[in-house]
Amino acid sequence: MKGNVRVESEAHHQLKSGEYWRDLPAFESVSAQEFETHLFQQRHTVTSVAQLREVLGKVVPESFYADLAAGIANAPMALRISPHLLSLIDWSAPESDPIRLQFLPLRSGQKADHPMLQLDSLGERKDSPVPGLTHRYADKALFLPVDSCPVYCRFCTRSYAVGADTEFVGEKLKLHASLQRWENAFAYIESHPELEDIVISGGDSFNLKADHIELIGMRLLGIPHIRRLRFATKGLSVLPQKILSDHRWTDSLTRVVEQARKLHKTAVVHTHFNSPNEIVDITRRAMNVLVERGITVRCQTVLQAGVNNSARAMQLLVKRLGHVNIQPYYVYFHDMVPGVEDLRTSLGEGLSIEKHVRGVTAGFHTPAFVVDTMGGGGKRDAHSHEHYDRETGIAVFTSPSVKPGQWFLYFDPLESLAPDIQARWEIATERRAMIDDALREAGAGSGDPVACAVR
Ligand code: SF4
Repeated sequence: MKGNVRVESEAHHQLKSGEYWRDLPAFESVSAQEFETHLFQQRHTVTSVAQLREVLGKVVPESFYADLAAGIANAPMALRISPHLLSLIDWSAPESDPIRLQFLPLRSGQKADHPMLQLDSLGERKDSPVPGLTHRYADKALFLPVDSCPVYCRFCTRSYAVGADTEFVGEKLKLHASLQRWENAFAYIESHPELEDIVISGGDSFNLKADHIELIGMRLLGIPHIRRLRFATKGLSVLPQKILSDHRWTDSLTRVVEQARKLHKTAVVHTHFNSPNEIVDITRRAMNVLVERGITVRCQTVLQAGVNNSARAMQLLVKRLGHVNIQPYYVYFHDMVPGVEDLRTSLGEGLSIEKHVRGVTAGFHTPAFVVDTMGGGGKRDAHSHEHYDRETGIAVFTSPSVKPGQWFLYFDPLESLAPDIQARWEIATERRAMIDDALREAGAGSGDPVACAVR
């Protein structure tokens, strides 16, 4: 990517408003008063092709539904999408729409997986001392109190556990809300004084009941060595109506944040927006409520082909997040999970986008571009690779503070490579040779452990 790309100075202020949902046949007579409630959104969430047909009717041709049904049969995640998100899709061109791309898999767009992809590519289950708790970094743990979300993202890293079972994955790990399971996690946290920081994720914190938000938040804040809580939710993108109309839930979250403040600790929200089109006027209104209550919100984005893999889209996303008071925190390179190869980008492409994003706004509002390494090395600054071979698409990372002495690999999508290199990836011995070369160039001695299994 060469030259200057600069998002127009006012574009990030222009947030979609009005009653745009009325363009969809099922919602044409739905008032703002009704549409802008979490109960309407939850009751009309679409979880099957038949339900989508009821919403859209003839807005899309019959071939679209057939393509979607075939895509779902070949996807790791079940279908689940809110009326809010459905209304934000440009149905005159759904094939290229950045919101459709993230949540509705079309068979015609799916690509063959890279041979090195893995379910649970981050190795979370390996670092899980009790079910639903991952303890990888010394002072931080990931707590998964629930295994459902208000939306199911095609690209979910946790497709091994999140959402309904699918043909693609088979029977998933079950992490339903359970006080007994949570107590086991709390007991582990209490017995590890090195833990200071707990991410409450899932699944999605939006799917926890108000009472459970408070129970979990207060219980964790009561542990003396816990200093920081993060409630992780994609809800602000999927269902911002909840912040405005589910007063019990928003009040519970507020009480946890206030209690943290009283104890001189912090409790914040970490959210997830990928396309600037997900940030609309009701997002701003929901964020205004959180801002007035002093609740900090940070965003973790996933870099995705067709969604945000251009300097302009990423700049606009970063600026628009800032405009509604969400701090852009991370941009993740796409995890190496199966079934979503059409969404991955190369490391080189992401590094170029990062170059165009840095400098667009203040440094503290500029996200770090990171690779969450396969096999559990944790997040690494994408620039910190020990070696990157753009020809074979292999990057090598180390993670001395998380898994000292190990080497971690990231692979560009095959489509980004020359045809002769793609052919080499088809052959197991050639794969091994290319990876060995990359490791040698990176300085790995023979026999050094490599965290990702080479097939
Ligand atoms: S909201 Fe998060 S946990 Fe839920 S499906 Fe999407 S990425 Fe996965």
